[in-house]
Amino acid sequence: MNGDGMIVVAGAGPAGLMLAAELTLAGAEVMVLDGLPERSPYCRGFNLNARSLELLDRRGIAGRFLAEGPVVPAGMFADPARPLDLTVMDTDHPYVLGIAQTRVEELLEQWLAELGVPVRWGHRVVGLEQDAGGVEVTVESGGRRRRTRAAYLAGCDGSRSLVRKRAGIGFPGTPATRYGVLADVELADPAALPFGMTNGERGTVFVIPRPGYVRIVLDDPEPPADRDEPVTLPRFQRLLDDQLGRRVELREPRWLTRFGDAARLADRYVAGRVVLAGDAAHIHPPTGAIGVNVALADAVNLGWKLAATALGHAPGGLLDSYHDERHEAGERLLSTIRAQSALAGHDPALAPVRALFGELVDRVPGAGKYLAELATGVSTRYDPKIPGDHPWLGRLAPNLELTLDGRRTSVAELLRPARPLLLRLGDRPLPAAGGRVDTCDARCPGRPGLEGLLIRPDGHTAWVSTTSDPQPDSTLATALATWFGAAAERQAAQRRGLVP
Ligand SMILES: Cc1cc2nc3c(=O)[nH]c(=O)nc-3n(C[C@H](O)[C@H](O)[C@H](O)COP(=O)(O)OP(=O)(O)OC[C@H]3O[C@@H](n4cnc5c(N)ncnc54)[C@H](O)[C@@H]3O)c2cc1C
Repeated sequence: MNGDGMIVVAGAGPAGLMLAAELTLAGAEVMVLDGLPERSPYCRGFNLNARSLELLDRRGIAGRFLAEGPVVPAGMFADPARPLDLTVMDTDHPYVLGIAQTRVEELLEQWLAELGVPVRWGHRVVGLEQDAGGVEVTVESGGRRRRTRAAYLAGCDGSRSLVRKRAGIGFPGTPATRYGVLADVELADPAALPFGMTNGERGTVFVIPRPGYVRIVLDDPEPPADRDEPVTLPRFQRLLDDQLGRRVELREPRWLTRFGDAARLADRYVAGRVVLAGDAAHIHPPTGAIGVNVALADAVNLGWKLAATALGHAPGGLLDSYHDERHEAGERLLSTIRAQSALAGHDPALAPVRALFGELVDRVPGAGKYLAELATGVSTRYDPKIPGDHPWLGRLAPNLELTLDGRRTSVAELLRPARPLLLRLGDRPLPAAGGRVDTCDARCPGRPGLEGLLIRPDGHTAWVSTTSDPQPDSTLATALATWFGAAAERQAAQRRGLVP
């Protein structure tokens, strides 16, 4: 194993798989390692939200996921009795897709294989040392240790990330104070416990229907001192019966586990030649069912920036913008999840807050939309670093329908190669972006006033101009230089003696 420009991705969960695909599309050489001998059969998450589907759309693969499960036009923000209407969101996918996390991972791994990158299962990263030029990664496989040199190491190795720890990245936040247990089991009598929430004598029990079994989630009021001690069926059964105040017999356990409500955020997403994404960078309680989705969002933000940096054509500060944008998104995520956890908890002192919050959502126009777009990340906006107040600026560009060379296409279709895109849409002559940016002369019949749109590979709007609010070419030049480094590219070519 060697390769000086190579990027090693540690971990083949949602973050690692998506990141590896994005890096590959951007032209980087990638090696994906996972310590497990094969994918774990245990399924943590069960959904993809609107933002994830939008991102997958922009790679042309959303259909593979949508073919797998039902879509539900309602979500939840803390209170299961008050579903959030997702149809009001500004998105092509105003719903949540029910899909097992394991299946999401299989489909991503399949797509990555189509791009020519296999996952090396049974390869655990056990050490790293970085210097100015790269990272020496120690990998254990088949009982042997080997060292491999990488330009960058991406820690997508989950919540207990070895990469994060060995890179010396802090993980401040709040430790777990409450624990829950879950069991994927069968009910001896399927009618004994309804799906959804049941308020028992001493606790609340959630039952989620799964094909051929149910997932039951409970509080674990007295967790063992060793939080990693396995959860046994007899213990889970005792907790369930105790909280319900009656016996509901369980059988055929598939998976039992414990989880806590710790919430932490890496203090650096980029530390020299090491980057973090997904659970390695942030942990939070499963409330909100969002972790897979945030992992994908991290990966799509990071991929093009890390590839450009490793390939030597990134403008200064591009990789740091990954930290700036996703750390801020992580702070927002943790704060939103903490709010949901507090509202969903049992603290009677918060009952009036819960009631008031519910009234606000029900009665204030737009409040439900705001919450739905916040909880799903649909309203995520990054600092565009140019002046302007167009509502698209910094946000995921809408999937506009376009005509190009007499045929119909869309923003999502043009973004499939994961390259920067300059759309020249009006009569005003805009300069060509050149270099690594695809320039397209298209028409947008639905938005006749739109003059031009510059879109980053992750789909976010970097510049937009309309006839009613025309933006000067100079801000377009600034946006191009900020994200795609026309100047940096020229300097690199000069260094190679290609241009004077
Ligand atoms: C009970 C529960 C329910 C959840 N429900 C939902 C839900 O409904 N919706 C949702 O969106 N999210 C949910 N989540 C969160 C979601 O599962 C995680 O956020 C998501 O898996 C994070 O993806 P990741 O790729 O960052 O990490 P992981 O999925 O944890 O993947 C990390 C990978 O790294 C590998 N690895 C670890 N260490 C090393 C090493 N040293 N070297 C090489 N490989 C290594 C692991 O084997 C693993 O394959 C839930 C989580 C829990 C615990």
